Amino acid sequence: MNKTLILVVEDDPSVRNLISVTLKSNDYRYVLATNGSSALSAAATHNPDIILLDLGLPDMDGVEVIKRIRGWSDVPIAVISARSEDDDKIAALDAGADDYMTKPFSVAELLARVRVMQRRRNAAVTEQAVFTNGPLSIDFAAGCAYLGEEELHLTPIEYKLLCLLARNVGKVLTHTYITQNVWGSSWDNDVASLRVFMAGLRKKLENGQGSQDYIQTHVGIGYRMNKLN
Ligand code: CA
Repeated sequence: MNKTLILVVEDDPSVRNLISVTLKSNDYRYVLATNGSSALSAAATHNPDIILLDLGLPDMDGVEVIKRIRGWSDVPIAVISARSEDDDKIAALDAGADDYMTKPFSVAELLARVRVMQRRRNAAVTEQAVFTNGPLSIDFAAGCAYLGEEELHLTPIEYKLLCLLARNVGKVLTHTYITQNVWGSSWDNDVASLRVFMAGLRKKLENGQGSQDYIQTHVGIGYRMNKLN
């Protein structure tokens, strides 16, 4: 029996059924909530390892649910949305969600998202002096990053970007979140510049080590550092 407990928040019975059947047949434990207020009390009562959250709930906006849960918990939250608009996903990610799925989604995608959340949960240990992910390592105290034995020659901005992604490994970070954390809030949300810096960083990360896919692009939304096994 899988020990991971998943809180599923979804008011649509057919989607809720699809998710619960999938989780059950893959040996996950789960609890169900059909609106925002029962989601908040279930999150407090059951202390789940992962939350799958529909954004369009009958009693409150899913983004509000995320904000309230983030007031006391950093449990990984994946948003499930019928809305294809990027604005909703971005609002959810900026409120503290970790990942998102757009309806309709496949069973395979659902399980893949859950695994990402599990890895994020397992990686969410207190800040360590040295971060490692595959051949990549970052010595935060020394301010150095390495790929295998070789030190990466990063610009100050590239190093800040790398540290931000690493500290949030497995989580999708929005353009706004990244630019505000790297350049400060006075910097306007210059996605084109960010893209250039990210391309430079990605090139250095992949240099000489084959094509380790460290940085995943979410078009129109942001970036995520993948946790390598
Ligand atoms: Ca809904």
